[in-house]
Amino acid sequence: MVRKVTENVYVIEHEEAANNVIIIGKKGVILVDTSLFPEKAKSISKFVKEFTMKPISLVLNTHYHPDHTFGNVIFDCPIVAHSLTREKMEQFDQNYFVEIGIDYFKPKLPDVIFDDIFEYEDGLKIKFVHAPGHTPDSSYVYIPEENILITGDTVINTIHPEIVEDSNLNVWIKTLEKLPKAKHVIPGHGEYGDYKLVTDMIDYIEKIKKIIIGELRPADFEADENFSKRLHPEMLEWSLKNLLSKTNF
Ligand SMILES: [Zn+2]
Repeated sequence: MVRKVTENVYVIEHEEAANNVIIIGKKGVILVDTSLFPEKAKSISKFVKEFTMKPISLVLNTHYHPDHTFGNVIFDCPIVAHSLTREKMEQFDQNYFVEIGIDYFKPKLPDVIFDDIFEYEDGLKIKFVHAPGHTPDSSYVYIPEENILITGDTVINTIHPEIVEDSNLNVWIKTLEKLPKAKHVIPGHGEYGDYKLVTDMIDYIEKIKKIIIGELRPADFEADENFSKRLHPEMLEWSLKNLLSKTNF
């Protein structure tokens, strides 16, 4: 479903799958994240052309996870990401595809990389900023004039967040606390909303920390909507397993 956030920014929400965001600049359209499937990326590209009558001039990848990057293959414009995103994607081999159950194709890597911040202007000013935690390469997009923050998986709404082996909970919380206090917040997955999505995420990760150190159990949060109302409890189980398998979280 396509939802208008402001005059120039639209989010393509796919229920639980990763969100795509289109930012309509003066000359072209900036697309944030490209989905897991090239076919889906193709339909997004077709929609953007028909809807805006402008070409997609830039693609931004918020982090390396396949559901945010595999659609890159269909785009000819520059693809921007953090240097670690590119590094991680260079390691995607046939085995990786087997693991995630997808037929192998050669992923398209970002060709413009940055370390701290990437700034871009096309009518609107866009800041693309490194914000580790969910993964070491995670980055967010901030559009000050539109008061919009596009977080990638640093913020997840509606469903239980995906906490992976290279997530770092303390770093993640620090990043969340430093995010610009924007009016509109578009998460990596789930419905877009306001700044409360960020505070809910901090609260959620604090709870995960308590579960990991054995202070509380998931069942203790039954009455807490920011925990128990999130969909996909199996994702929570999977995340806890990932965290318990390592010593530094
Ligand atoms: Zn992710």
